[in-house]
Formats: sequence, structure tokens, C-alpha cells
Amino acid sequence: MPEFIAKPASLKELWKQLPSLPSSRRYLAGGTDLVTADNAGADHSGCWIDIGDLPELRAVKETASSLFIGSAVKISELERSAPVRKWCPVLSAAIPHFASPSLRNMATLGGNAANASPCADGVCALVAEDASVLLALKDARRRLPLKDLFTGPKRTALKRDELILGFEVPKRPHAGAYFKLGPRARFGISKAAVALAAEISGGRVKRAAVALGSVAPVPLYAARTSAWLAGRELSPETAAEAAELIKSEVSPITDARSEAAYRREMCGVLLSRALESAAA
Ligand SMILES: Cc1cc2nc3c(=O)[nH]c(=O)nc-3n(C[C@H](O)[C@H](O)[C@H](O)COP(=O)(O)OP(=O)(O)OC[C@H]3O[C@@H](n4cnc5c(N)ncnc54)[C@H](O)[C@@H]3O)c2cc1C
Repeated sequence: MPEFIAKPASLKELWKQLPSLPSSRRYLAGGTDLVTADNAGADHSGCWIDIGDLPELRAVKETASSLFIGSAVKISELERSAPVRKWCPVLSAAIPHFASPSLRNMATLGGNAANASPCADGVCALVAEDASVLLALKDARRRLPLKDLFTGPKRTALKRDELILGFEVPKRPHAGAYFKLGPRARFGISKAAVALAAEISGGRVKRAAVALGSVAPVPLYAARTSAWLAGRELSPETAAEAAELIKSEVSPITDARSEAAYRREMCGVLLSRALESAAA
């Protein structure tokens, strides 16, 4: 544990306090990654800034064209949110695969994104949902396509002290699926995961977005497969061709959890299952 924990009551107070806080500081949201790292002796920061109750980060808000999900909303709150279920079917399908119910009561999407693990389930689902990430550093605000936030394993384009405010998902009716292959059906880090968002009309894919976890250095947006699927009839032949194509887009590694060749093969299997489920 660091010597100092700050807990600003608002964003305004955070920006005011920041210059006086110890320089080796990190944000603390649900703590499921940060406290785990600290317990393992891998966090050496002198100060944690608890942002978990900042009202500006705790809301889910609808506008006419988009859904804003605050970065500090708990995964279990998203699970119960009617607008999230309506507009984010991929994220909703991913949530039961996300850790355990007790972890979901603490973990947030902001922490999932800032931690930048290639196997982050929430991030992978949101990339398929075509989410943007909204960032703030004092008065400066910027927005990035979420897929562009990640620069490598555990590395992001976040500037020092830059805060993830939340995520914006366009309100577009679509089907969603999330298939995760792990050591068991629930509660485990994935060997491979596939997220699919698809707008389907008359048995044809109008628009598709495929994202993958654990098979590249970053949560991967599969641009070629997504573009290829647009306009195709949903059929076993389309699923088989898409499954071949996706295997050429991923770059898995062999590690303690799985082998590269198996992971690559499973990306095809999981994508055909996702297409089948989106069509049902
Ligand atoms: C037992 C266990 C099982 C797990 N299973 C899964 C799983 O199945 N799927 C999965 O995806 N993850 C899993 N995780 C990882 C973890 O729960 C998630 O990554 C979670 O979303 C992190 O969110 P948090 O709020 O707890 O982040 P924290 O631990 O509070 O923070 C993580 C990092 O993000 C930074 N940060 C947090 N919020 C912000 C913000 N708003 N702006 C900028 N930086 C920020 C922190 O400074 C820190 O560096 C698991 C973890 C554990 C311990």
C-alpha cells in the first residue's frame, strides 16, 4: 500500500489537488488489478488517487445518438443496466465471462482499459461495439476510438495523469455475441476470445465488427474480417470463410495458458459460433 491515498470528491477537486500529490501516483478505481499488483510487490507508487466514487465517472447516460458509460461504473451495475442491455449486446454477452460475481462488484471498465491487458474482456467487447474512449486532463478533453488506446501489452496512449472519463457507444440496433475459451466455462483468463457486433437484415450482414482477446499484443479489432463480412449472406459457407480469414489477422503467442497454433485455430471456431449465434 502506498503511504498516501487521496480521495477527491469531484473532478474539479481532483485537478486542484493533483499538483500537491506525490509524483509517483496512480488512479485507484475498483482495485482488482492495482491491489493485486501491490500484493504481488509490483506496484511501487507513493500515492493512490481513489476515483471510484467520483460522480462524473459513475453514470450511464443516454443521448439521442449514443450511450455514455462512466469509467467507474461497476461491471455488476452494467449487468443490471437496461440501456446497456439494449444498446450493448456484445458487452452484455461478455459480462458473465468476466471474473466472478464478487469481482464484478468491484471491477470497472476504466480499470479494464487502463490496465491494457490483451485479454481484457470488457475492452474487447467495447471495441466490437465501436466505442470511443473519452479522456480528460484538467481542462483538456480528447476522444479516441477505443481500439486506438492500446499501444502494446499493458501499454496505452494515456498521458501522465490523464483520466478515462468513460466510453461512448453509438446507439445502433445490432446483434451481439461473445465467446471466450478458457481453462473452464467461467472464471479464468482466456486462451482466446471473440466479440462480434452485427447489423443483420433479411439474412444479410449490413455491418459487422469483430474484436478478439488474448491473440495479439493488444485487444484486436479485426478490420479485414469485419469489412469482408459486410454485405454477405449469413450462411455456413460465409461462417467458414470468415473463420479462415480471421486466422490470418491474429498473432497469438505460446505461453502458460495455451499454444499459438491452438489459439489461432480457436479464433476461427469461436467466430463461426458467434456468427451462428448472431443469426439465431
Ligand atoms: C481474480 C481475478 C480475476 C479476473 N478476471 C478477469 C476476467 O475474467 N476478465 C477481465 O477482463 N479481467 C479480469 N480481471 C482483471 C480486473 O478485474 C479487470 O481488469 C478490472 O476491470 C480492473 O478494473 P478496476 O476498477 O479494478 O481497476 P484498478 O485495479 O482500480 O486499476 C487498474 C489500472 O487502471 C488504472 N485506472 C483505473 N481507472 C482509471 C481511469 N478511470 N482512468 C485512468 N486510469 C485508470 C489504475 O491506475 C491502474 O493502473 C481479474 C482480476 C482478478 C484479480
